[in-house]
Amino acid sequence: MIVDDRLRVQLHTKAPPSTNEDGKDSPKSASSAAMKDVFALGDNAMIPNASLPATAQTALQQALWLAKRLNKGDLDKEHFTYKNLGIMKYLGNAKGLVQTEGAMGDISVRAAWLIWRGAYLTMSMSWRDKILIPVYWFLTWAFGRDVTRF
Ligand SMILES: Cc1cc2nc3c(=O)[nH]c(=O)nc-3n(C[C@H](O)[C@H](O)[C@H](O)COP(=O)(O)OP(=O)(O)OC[C@H]3O[C@@H](n4cnc5c(N)ncnc54)[C@H](O)[C@@H]3O)c2cc1C
Repeated sequence: MIVDDRLRVQLHTKAPPSTNEDGKDSPKSASSAAMKDVFALGDNAMIPNASLPATAQTALQQALWLAKRLNKGDLDKEHFTYKNLGIMKYLGNAKGLVQTEGAMGDISVRAAWLIWRGAYLTMSMSWRDKILIPVYWFLTWAFGRDVTRF
């Protein structure tokens, strides 16, 4: 779904074919307009020329931004801008990778793993997840395999 930089869904319309002076059909021109109260965000939304990654980070930033704008009623004054907070990857065996835009410098694979785990815990939405995720990590460590798959 195409959205503008305020996450409003763009409505595309094709103009009816018109005829030139020489009697030939001219190419159809398309126009787009932002729908007033219809929004899209996350994987489902694409802002032209923005090339945002299809990640949870993008969806979360958009959701928080839009909720704030709608609550404050200042959507017309602001534009969504994406801030890359970095990329994290678990490599297995208590090792990880963290890629940021120069903010952290070089860190060890063990420190990256701890940061990755910390981020997963703090960003889990519900208390149920915040409790179950470390239990799952502990059981996987204790039994040496994924205990959710028998
Ligand atoms: C295997 C995998 C690994 C990933 N790993 C990472 C990662 O490590 N880090 C990261 O940042 N991102 C990761 N992503 C990407 C991340 O999951 C998505 O970018 C993020 O979930 C997008 O959020 P969303 O809300 O746009 O869509 P979703 O999270 O997909 O939510 C859309 C929801 O809408 C529901 N839905 C669909 N159709 C209908 C309907 N007709 N009616 C009602 N409900 C409907 C779906 O069931 C779903 O719950 C991963 C994605 C995949 C597939």
